[in-house]
Amino acid sequence: MTVSKAVSFLAYAPVQVPFGAQIRAAVGIGAIVCAAALFGIATRPAGFLAAIWPANALLLGLLVRRPVFATPLGWCAAALGYVVANLIGGTGLIVALLLMTGNLAGVAAGFALFMRRDQTDRRLRRPTSVLHLVLIVVVSAAASAAVGPIVNPFLFGHSPTEGWAYRFATELVNYMTLLPVVLTMPVPAWFGFERRRHGEAWHLLPQQIAPALALALVCIAGAWIGGPGALAFPVPALLWCAVAYGQFATSVLTALFSAWTMVAVAAGHIIDPEQLDTQYALMSVRIGVALMALAPITVASVMVARNELLEQLRQLASHDPLTGVLNRRAFVDAYRARIAQREWRKRAVSVLVLDIDHFKKINDTWGHAVGDQILMAFARTVRECLRGSDLLGRFDGEEFVALMCGCAGTEAEAAAERVRAAVAATVVHIDGGHNVMMTVSIGIAAADSLPAALEPLVAAADKALYAAKAAGRNQVARAA
Ligand code: GH3
Ligand code: MG
Ligand code: MG
Repeated sequence: MTVSKAVSFLAYAPVQVPFGAQIRAAVGIGAIVCAAALFGIATRPAGFLAAIWPANALLLGLLVRRPVFATPLGWCAAALGYVVANLIGGTGLIVALLLMTGNLAGVAAGFALFMRRDQTDRRLRRPTSVLHLVLIVVVSAAASAAVGPIVNPFLFGHSPTEGWAYRFATELVNYMTLLPVVLTMPVPAWFGFERRRHGEAWHLLPQQIAPALALALVCIAGAWIGGPGALAFPVPALLWCAVAYGQFATSVLTALFSAWTMVAVAAGHIIDPEQLDTQYALMSVRIGVALMALAPITVASVMVARNELLEQLRQLASHDPLTGVLNRRAFVDAYRARIAQREWRKRAVSVLVLDIDHFKKINDTWGHAVGDQILMAFARTVRECLRGSDLLGRFDGEEFVALMCGCAGTEAEAAAERVRAAVAATVVHIDGGHNVMMTVSIGIAAADSLPAALEPLVAAADKALYAAKAAGRNQVARAA
């Protein structure tokens, strides 16, 4: 592969980014990499490579989330960030350049592989996404570790094989625990990058604190009791967190657990330092922690897929598939939910029963498919005339019911009249260049507060509807 081919492979730019924005992004990337690398250097235990090295996972996660930042300028800034941090940390230029090459090789390999996955996988929103994450992270860690056989013997007196394996284990645990945090982080709507999906917001209510509290207590207890088994103490609490919280919160808690475990192990709290005197033992602990982190991340991904499916099912079960308004059962359920709330119960209420005039004739003249189109346009028009808090349901064929809370008497009549006029003004363009129009008759019934049962109010409005039909259609009639 030529150099220019390699550059274009990594410079993922389906959108042309203005040069000014490229420079701003590159400065940001360089600063983030440098700061994260300095943090890693500061946590480096004497004689060992940094146990916590967030720079690579942060850079990879950032580029996967915002691929337009992966410009040649962005990669150069990242390289500079690594080198500057290592020089500040007291590493010689040659070693700093070698370390940078390893770090960038891992990130570049991970980036190239992630870009082959779709957006859902990159955000870990499928159970199988975690499997891909593992494979990508293994390749990234292996690529990063490629400089191990050269650098580690020189820096720490390891054998070349040890040098590779040691770096591989360290990279693996860092990628595996930090990458999910960056990949699942919700971006605030005001950022303007992507819209936050419904239900993804991370709200922690006081009663929801229990799983996190359990995790903290078990982590502390594990360090206090000690022994190799203590490494696994937090697994049930982590799984509880994964079921109780969103994906991002679970990723953060998992990363905190991993960091805590590695610090506690390094300080000799969990495993007897006598048993941990070999590089091999420490490496084993790191790989173990990395693999343990997979359990809650996988469960969180399963929960995301499950919640999306449940939401789809809920939508299907409660809405009319043709017009998208509530079906009768969901309408009645929503009404019952209103009765249960004091602030709604005490308000005046009006029920509108709406029935399209001579709808059979529309079906007979234009066909059932056009009739369906008319129904959709009708529901859309009515919905647009109502307030957000009003309920609209399809009760039968072309008969709809609307519930307006806090609106009665002449106000309700005026609202119904607005609906009638808007429906009469709606033009539906159908195949063949024809325009089809419709009218609606509306019956209204009102009450001073929400009655316990909806049916009598609907029946009264239905009676008024018949009066409107009898009086010539395309009009509003109010129950006596
Ligand atoms: P009126 O002015 O008295 O209401 O006359 P109408 O023709 O509208 O009478 P009616 O309410 O009895 O007619 C309802 C018709 O709506 C009959 C039925 O075939 C049709 N219909 C019911 N559901 C659907 C649907 O989902 N799609 C279509 N295209 N037609 C439907
Ligand atoms: Mg009708
Ligand atoms: Mg009807």
